[in-house]
Order: sequence, then structure tokens, then C-alpha cells
Amino acid sequence: MENGKSGILTTAMYNFDVAAKRLGLDSDIRQKILGPKEKVEIDINPKLPNGRMINAKVFIVRHHDALGPAKGGIRMTPSVTLDEVTGLAMEMTWKTSLIGVPFGGGKSGIRLDPAKLTDDEKEAVIRAFERGASRHIGPEIYIPAPDMGTNEMDMAHIRDCISYSQGVSITKGCFVTGKPVILGGIVGRREATGKGVVYTILSSCEKLNKDIKKMSVAVQGFGNVGSVAAAEIARHGARVVAVCDAQAGLKNDDGIDIQALERHFVQKGTLKGFPGCKEMAPTDIFAVDCDILIPAAAGSQITLENVDKIKASIIAEGANAPTIPEADEVLASRSVMVVPDILCNAGGVFVSYLEYTQETQREQMTLEAVENRLSSRMAERFNDVYDLAAQKGITMRQAAMDIAVSRVLEAVRTRGLLP
Ligand code: GLU
Repeated sequence: MENGKSGILTTAMYNFDVAAKRLGLDSDIRQKILGPKEKVEIDINPKLPNGRMINAKVFIVRHHDALGPAKGGIRMTPSVTLDEVTGLAMEMTWKTSLIGVPFGGGKSGIRLDPAKLTDDEKEAVIRAFERGASRHIGPEIYIPAPDMGTNEMDMAHIRDCISYSQGVSITKGCFVTGKPVILGGIVGRREATGKGVVYTILSSCEKLNKDIKKMSVAVQGFGNVGSVAAAEIARHGARVVAVCDAQAGLKNDDGIDIQALERHFVQKGTLKGFPGCKEMAPTDIFAVDCDILIPAAAGSQITLENVDKIKASIIAEGANAPTIPEADEVLASRSVMVVPDILCNAGGVFVSYLEYTQETQREQMTLEAVENRLSSRMAERFNDVYDLAAQKGITMRQAAMDIAVSRVLEAVRTRGLLP
């Protein structure tokens, strides 16, 4: 199996195939659920504030919409491909289904390096994306959100672009989630994915009879998911002994002060040079002696090359598709508890759903209400997955896929199979 970015599609197809066999789906139904509803490739040519015109490829995939309009983020990286976006859109179908929100799965990609763009240049790119993609975006079609390389300011510009083109101040319904709170966003959305990851870890510790305060943790990725998960798990008393991003890694067996590290990262733009820690290569994160590993960076990170080095007994998949199937099998044979991505990082899309309903109803939810809804939904779904896995003697990933695929199947059958 390839280990590159399109590995995400291979992983997603493999996981679906295993579930389809276990659920005994015939090939027609399998095809009806597997095939993306729509795949679009668009060229955008934004003119940047300095007068230079650039070209970027945009991909939009609506994987499935039996349960509702497609939902999923916009990934902006220099290497994103249509295959990667297709795999991620498929993952969103299972994620929304499993966490129980009335959405299908979708995803977009913009092939550019956000680190090479100024804020004004990125705004020009995002506005060009919205113009190019406008026929594919809408509260009943596809509702984007932030993903790797995009953030709440980008969502603000998408919403502004739409309302501006309609000549109105607000939009009818929710076109995009993950917006700044001042523009109809919801409190706690930015932290939701990272906090959701930690809620699943707390549930895992409860099931395994482990005290979170005695746990050591290594976190791969210090973006929106990794940094929040690290801070939140430290707040619960665990010791974060290692963190890394794509450029650098840090290690301290006594525990890293995550709040101080966040301040350092904001000031310096790098993890490097943080006092009191040993620096290490980012790939060394997998060999760190720890109880819990949180891969919260890119896809296809846990492979046959590093799986044997992993010492953690709990792996919480903050990223989408971080484990390739062969490595997953090795982890299962070692009885490592892997909390699968479609459960572990579903907190983000769950709070996106709260944002969607809040905007539609012109309502304002409090942070307390958002966090209560998030923590109870994550715990409920964790228990459903855990119980099914125990009952059928399968992995948490397999149980999560069984529940997710079965719900999509039920929606497809309930709608009726004829066109
Ligand atoms: N990009 C996030 C994910 O992969 C959030 C998607 C959303 O909120 O729509 O789950």
C-alpha cells in the first residue's frame, strides 16, 4: 500500500470494504454507498493584492447525502489531491453518521501552501474559491468548515462573499461553519475537536480502569487539534511528555508546560527553542515512552515502519486516517486500544452542527451548553462503539464503521432504492 497522501483514500476504502463484508452488503448496495455523489475539479486564478495572478486547483467532493447535506472542511495544502479529498469526504460520511448529526460527508481541497501567503493573499484565494465553488456550496448542498490549512477568518471571508453577492448582511441559513463568533460562529467551535479527542481518552481510561492523572501522553501535531488536546489533557492532570509538529519535536519526561509552550509558539512561530525540553526529530514521537499517543497531524502517519516502536496502550486518532490498515492490524494484534478517527475527532463536526442549528434559528448558545452537549454526545457514542466492539469481539474501528455504515444504509433504504 502506498504511504503518501492518497493513502487516505486507500485506507478509507479498505475500512469500508471490511465493514461491507462483515455487514453482508451485496455489490449493488455497496456501490450505492461507496461511490461519491459528486467530484468536482475547478481552476481558480485569483489576482493577489500585489497584482500577480496565480493558479490553483480546487477539489470538491460530496461523498454521500442520504442523511443530509454534505459536511466537511476545506483543506489547503500544497500537495492535496482529488484522491485525498475523496477519501476525506468518505470519512466525513461515516463521522457525521456515527456522531448522529443530520449531515452527509463532503470535503474540499485547495492546492496551495498557506504558509507562503500573506493574510491579504489568502483572503483573495479564499474569495476566489468561494466564487468558483458557489454552485456547490449551500445549507442544503454542502457546508464547508475549517480543516488543515484553513481557519475561522477564511470561513468569515466565505460567508462575507456569499452575503455580499446576495446584497444582504446575513445569509438565509448556514452556508459555512467554524466562523468567528461575531459573524454567527459558535463559542467553543475552535476547541471542539481537541476537547472531543480528550473526552474519548477519558472514556477509554474509565473502561481500562486507568487514572488519567497517572498517564503520560505524546502528541503529534501542534495545530488546532493537537495543541488544544495537549492543553486539555494536561488540565485533566495527565503528563504531556512529548509534542511535535512537522518541523520540530520536544521531549520532557517530567511533563511539558503546555500553556507556556502555546505562548512560545505564538511568539516564535516554532516549537524550537522552548526552555527545559530536549529537542528531537518529529518522527521520534512514535518511539516516545508514553501511555497515550495522539496522532493529530496528517494522514498515513502510523505505518509498518514505526508501528513496532509505539509503546502507548491507547491511541486517540485526532487526525483523519492517521493509521494505515496494515499498521492497524498490528495494533489490534497487540490489543492496543485505538479510538478511531471517525469517533475520536468528531467533536468538531458535532459543534459545527450546533452552529448550523444556532444560525438557522438565530439562537445564541452559551459555552456551557455547547460543552455539555459535546461531552455527553462524545461519551454516548464512545460507549455505543465500545459496547458493540466488546459484544462482537471486533476492534473499536470496526464497531464504529458498523454503526456508521448501517445508519447510512438505513437512510438509503428508507428513502427508497428507486430513483
Ligand atoms: N474538518 C473537520 C473534520 O475533519 C470539521 C468538519 C466540519 O466541521 O464540517 O472533521
